[in-house]
Amino acid sequence: MMVLTKKMIEIRSILQRVDQSDTLQLPSIVVIGSQSSGKSSVLEAIVGHEFLPKGSNMVTRRPIELTLINTPDSAAEYGEFPALGIGKVTDFSQIQKTLTDLNLSVPDSEAVSDEPIQLHIYSPHIPDLTLIDLPGYIQVAASDQPGSLKQRINELCEKYIQQPNVILAISAADVDLANSSALKASRRVDPRGERTIGVITKMDLVDPDRGYDVLTNKSYPLKMGYVGVITRAPTPVGGLFRRSSNNITTLVSQNEQNFFSQHPEYKDAAITVGTSQLRRKLMTVLEKTMANSLEPTCESIHQELEEATYQFKVEYNDRVLTPQTYLAGSVDSFKLAFKDLTSQLGRDQVRKLLKSELDQKVLDILAQRYWNKPLVAPSPNAKGGNPSDLYTVGADLFEPPISELPNSAPDDVFWHRKLDASASALTKLGMGRLSTSLVINELTNEMDELVAATNFRNHPYARNAIQEATADILNMRFYSTADQVENCIKPYKYEVEVEDREWTSSREHSYNLLKEELRQCEATFATLKRNIGSSKLTQVMKFVDQTRPTRTNKSNASTPPHPPPEGTEAFGFSQALLTKGREAVFLRDRADILKLRMAAVKSRQCKSKENKYYCPEVFLDVVAEKLTQTAVLFLNVELLSDFYYNFPRELDNRLGKSLTEEQVEAFAKQDVKIRRHIELQQRKELLELALSKIESVIELQKSRVKPDMRR
Ligand code: GDP
Repeated sequence: MMVLTKKMIEIRSILQRVDQSDTLQLPSIVVIGSQSSGKSSVLEAIVGHEFLPKGSNMVTRRPIELTLINTPDSAAEYGEFPALGIGKVTDFSQIQKTLTDLNLSVPDSEAVSDEPIQLHIYSPHIPDLTLIDLPGYIQVAASDQPGSLKQRINELCEKYIQQPNVILAISAADVDLANSSALKASRRVDPRGERTIGVITKMDLVDPDRGYDVLTNKSYPLKMGYVGVITRAPTPVGGLFRRSSNNITTLVSQNEQNFFSQHPEYKDAAITVGTSQLRRKLMTVLEKTMANSLEPTCESIHQELEEATYQFKVEYNDRVLTPQTYLAGSVDSFKLAFKDLTSQLGRDQVRKLLKSELDQKVLDILAQRYWNKPLVAPSPNAKGGNPSDLYTVGADLFEPPISELPNSAPDDVFWHRKLDASASALTKLGMGRLSTSLVINELTNEMDELVAATNFRNHPYARNAIQEATADILNMRFYSTADQVENCIKPYKYEVEVEDREWTSSREHSYNLLKEELRQCEATFATLKRNIGSSKLTQVMKFVDQTRPTRTNKSNASTPPHPPPEGTEAFGFSQALLTKGREAVFLRDRADILKLRMAAVKSRQCKSKENKYYCPEVFLDVVAEKLTQTAVLFLNVELLSDFYYNFPRELDNRLGKSLTEEQVEAFAKQDVKIRRHIELQQRKELLELALSKIESVIELQKSRVKPDMRR
């Protein structure tokens, strides 16, 4: 007989997963009673464990949907919170703690919440039952509770005690039943007493005559009757045994048996006493109620399923999407996009990237070592502090300016040394690290862009996994790649041999580089001019020209040096304007030099590699080109190819088998659209499952009824 309840409870759990709506609810037993009526003690006596929150403050603030599952083949007793994903808690005091925390998570201002806590308990010693524990009725709210609390509790209970639920109305024997909040509430919704079971607690507190009267309550007769219980251990030992919940429940039931057997009044067949009787009654009643609601529930499931099926067809064209297939599909399309990347960011692109970085370095070296104007010492009349403060340019004070270079002798040691030092600055700038981090940064950025362009952009989990996989693979190769590159460019630190072909191509490249530099220089100058105004800029530039230290070349030697400006204001120019003026002068001079050097590079002198000392721009470009070529060879093999080979495997590792089913589901649901699709589909599947189960239960029931009728 009880097979039915078990199956129905299973269906009930499935329906609970479909949604929290009220339309698909199988009946349950709802437990109501005033605070301190002994409600918790009754539930614990049924379960055989102490597990409910205790405390002076009102602790049940949310409905607890308690599903008891009898497990005859296993001795293990444990609880689960399915909605929270907490499974197999064998320590009942831990269950109690979790329940307390869940209840206390309701803010004090609200005091009660409609949101039920689902708790499943498995044990061979419990019957299959579903019980809903509700906050106890109160007379008046305590000073620290909201004034509306009483009403809120009433409303919450009212919602649960509706059809087709069975009401377990708890009242204490030592309180006049006419005042019992539980019976009053039950009477309102079940005036004929057809679906209420009265439980009278604390029978030990009244004498047997009165107890007998209470159990045969005439003023509110119930079809399923009243059951008298004692759910407290005998007082003297209570304190001693409270630590072990098993002991306490054994004591409770012994105490109860002893009490009732001592009093002949309770042997009367017209009354029912004892927790075990109560359990039995609950089982029978629930089974019957469940059986009655089979057909209507089956009908509701049918309707819901039809609706879900229709919606699934219209919105998703019946396309089945599981979290697993979604993840697999997303991984596949990411891999495709990744493959595109491997063809777009290859050896050639890395070469360009690296070369343009080195172009910049070459320009920096040229500026620092050749183009920046060398200065002379200020006139001895000059006021001001330490002269070295004024000369921030790193050039030798008395060295010849670059404009002298074309006129110098071919074996002028000064220019030879300068070029050697410049080439050395380039070969020793830490090419290994520089080029490796450049490529790593580029790959990292590209990967980020790839994520942004695929499904994974909506999935923080996947995004992190990809970022981490990328970083792990690349960082692991950083040092070895950097070392290899550095090793291979070593020969260039000592000697660079130049071929004619290389010289010609570098000559062209460096000309273009200077041209671009000139363009930028002129553009910046034009902006300054626009912002400051042409005549004002001319004035301030003139002032800067006159007051700065002059060049050491002969043409300027006659110009008397002027003292630098003092203080923040000079001749009516503000400090900000002076700064702009100096910038403009710098840009103008730089543009002059660039034009000069462009002409030099174009000149016959620079046509031949033999004249490299006259053409540092060209020679340094040859060096940069050689460094690039060599570095790229290793970067391609050690870093790029390696990454392109390993990344897809790492992706499979991190977004593949290592994920649990829950993780995959959580991943898929991060995308709102996918979440809706999956949820509708899951709803449909659950309804199908519930329907097939309920239909088979109905079949089972019919096949049972038939032989009965034949009898
Ligand atoms: P709840 O607030 O309705 O959940 O009530 P509890 O189960 O916490 O019980 C309230 C008080 O009544 C506690 O102090 C219990 O020890 C006591 N109590 C519960 N059942 C019995 C009983 O059968 N007999 C006696 N004498 N006291 C009981």
